[in-house]
Amino acid sequence: MKRRGFLIALSAIAGGGGAMAVLNSKPQTGSSEYGKSSVTGSRLPALFIGHGSPMNIVDKNRFTENFRKIGESLPKPKAILCISAHWETHGTKVLASDRPKQIYDFYGFPQELYEVSYKPEGAKGIADSVVPLVQGKGLKAETSSDWGLDHGTWSVLHHLYPAADVPTFQLSLDRGASLESHFEMARAISELRDQGVLVLGSGNIVHNLRAIDWDAEAPARPWAVKFDGMVCDALQGGGDRLAQLKKIFSDKEISMAHPSLDHLLPLVYAAGAGTPGGDANIIALGIQNGSVSMTSFSFA
Ligand code: ZN
Repeated sequence: MKRRGFLIALSAIAGGGGAMAVLNSKPQTGSSEYGKSSVTGSRLPALFIGHGSPMNIVDKNRFTENFRKIGESLPKPKAILCISAHWETHGTKVLASDRPKQIYDFYGFPQELYEVSYKPEGAKGIADSVVPLVQGKGLKAETSSDWGLDHGTWSVLHHLYPAADVPTFQLSLDRGASLESHFEMARAISELRDQGVLVLGSGNIVHNLRAIDWDAEAPARPWAVKFDGMVCDALQGGGDRLAQLKKIFSDKEISMAHPSLDHLLPLVYAAGAGTPGGDANIIALGIQNGSVSMTSFSFA
């Protein structure tokens, strides 16, 4: 099935039926249509959301409006585990804090962004349980209270769950880990989904700040469109996710699409936390600022 014929359904977020929001691929302009959806499934999906520019925190645009609709379509999770592009560490850390601080880790933006308050409770109990969970799979993680909720997390959740009423914690990206190791970690934490935890990867499918255009609606760079489309094609269907990810990470355009891999790695967590053999659905599609993809996925 080709990408242009790929049905993109918000209702597929929960793996259920209901009203469909159909989106036709137009990655050159990022234009899209969104609609309401309904939720019938019980297990929450694993999501990958493109967060893009911090301006999306306050801007009302088709992407942020879509984030709101995605949030409305989802049941309220017991907790949210976010794997953000903006928390890289040596070894894997889990944020274990009752009251995580809100981190404004962006610079030179309008004052109103720094006045947005998003302070959900932490999920310390669940975070603590991640360490033995992954140890049981032969992996290693340790708790940390040094970090907080960075903007990769709260810029998205501020739209998905504006009431900030879901306990939230983060898992870091281990700088030294291989793709396979990240994937194994994702498989390990996927069990949290059975406890009502929403696993959310927050990054971008294309993220090259050297090539950005300050106009959010600027035409997408051709190589950005190509990489974005390649990722959409690679993830279609419920095939071998690790093989699909290897294809993505070995694409010849990757150094242009990702001068560093931090914004792509959260995709590994969302894809890896998805049920093996389960569908992947595109829930947002398009490119902002010429070189930052907002394309987002839900994994059943
Ligand atoms: Zn970012």
